[in-house]
Amino acid sequence: MSQAHTEAAEPAKRPAGRGRNVELSEELKAYKGVWVFIEHDRGHVHSVSWELVGEARKLADKLGCQVSAIVLGGPDEALDKFAAEAFTYGADQAHLMQDPVLKGYRNEPFTKGLTDLVNKYQPEILLLGATSMGRDLAGSVATTLLTGLTADCTELRIDPTTKALAATRPTFGGSLYCTIMTLAYRPQMATVRPRVMLMPPADARRTGKITYDSLGMVETQIVTKLLDFIPDASSNKINLPYADVIVSGGKGLKNPENFKLVFELARVLGGEVGATRPCVQAGWVEADRQVGQTGKTVRPKLYIAAGVSGAIQHRVGMEASDVIIAINTDANAPIFDVAHYGIVGNAMQVLPALTQAFAAHLALRTRQAA
Ligand SMILES: Cc1cc2nc3c(=O)[nH]c(=O)nc-3n(C[C@H](O)[C@H](O)[C@H](O)COP(=O)(O)OP(=O)(O)OC[C@H]3O[C@@H](n4cnc5c(N)ncnc54)[C@H](O)[C@@H]3O)c2cc1C
Repeated sequence: MSQAHTEAAEPAKRPAGRGRNVELSEELKAYKGVWVFIEHDRGHVHSVSWELVGEARKLADKLGCQVSAIVLGGPDEALDKFAAEAFTYGADQAHLMQDPVLKGYRNEPFTKGLTDLVNKYQPEILLLGATSMGRDLAGSVATTLLTGLTADCTELRIDPTTKALAATRPTFGGSLYCTIMTLAYRPQMATVRPRVMLMPPADARRTGKITYDSLGMVETQIVTKLLDFIPDASSNKINLPYADVIVSGGKGLKNPENFKLVFELARVLGGEVGATRPCVQAGWVEADRQVGQTGKTVRPKLYIAAGVSGAIQHRVGMEASDVIIAINTDANAPIFDVAHYGIVGNAMQVLPALTQAFAAHLALRTRQAA
């Protein structure tokens, strides 16, 4: 894949008087610092937030500025603890906003909270996870602030000439990468999917400064009401982005019955099951199992692809895996271009053979350890 082009992102509506220029106004030159929105739910911070703090650290070091963690939540939520954890991953300071209407995510209060903080402290860059919450919030914050947002980035760096955030993402159905810069507006916003960036090492000795702000919003001003939380019984069962081992199946498996061979191998290896988009579209497996551009990005220690052609839209979601093993009848299948080990053969024969061999090997290791 090649780097395609560089362009300036246009906000939905340009503020009066700013015009079509690509120069920063004097007022916007004052914006400094790299911010990361810390996403949390029911006491747990989403790992993508720490991945982004690690990335923000690299960007801030290039710019010679500070990294701030932005934590919004309810009065009884452990926001100070989340801030302390953000410091260990590389943040220098944290802005906390605690209010009863911020307990549980809702777009209106979170948009107001985050835009108020941006207007007050004026960060240069604002990063959010490309999760359901992050995507919802990033869009409304960018449109409220009338700034540019680059979604689903795969790489973030500082452009050496303009010092702007150069945010790279796949485009044209994944066949090209484009690098987008927001040159005339601030903050420069980007979302990044879980597991695209590496988890930074935590340094327990790191600390930082915490600043507290209030929201100034009451429940009656918010249209959306949070009545109850009903967990989706299936959604948390499949945690593809953070699985260490993934066995994925493609259309080469021919039918859903053969897909059971993928589940069997994944079970023996203690891993998860992934799939290509056509398998999901055919209803063979749940949508949460789709790996690729319009599915999940994964980074396991071991990725086994059986009957997967290796189309670019699939590869962008799995090529960062530590070890890739591909099984395909076609020796010229593109999946072999990214595979560390290739088996040219019929998946319906190779998968059960691998399952049997791994089961025997793991049983032997268990016996030896006992
Ligand atoms: C905008 C857009 C977004 C997309 N997003 C995604 C995405 O997120 N994820 C995704 O996966 N795809 C995505 N796609 C689809 C993608 O382009 C490919 O069509 C898809 O990945 C191919 O799936 P496949 O490898 O299962 O099927 P196929 O391309 O049909 O490949 C099947 C493979 O199995 C091999 N095979 C056949 N028989 C056997 C056998 N007995 N044993 C072993 N191998 C065998 C064949 O040689 C072949 O290589 C997207 C497409 C578009 C346009």
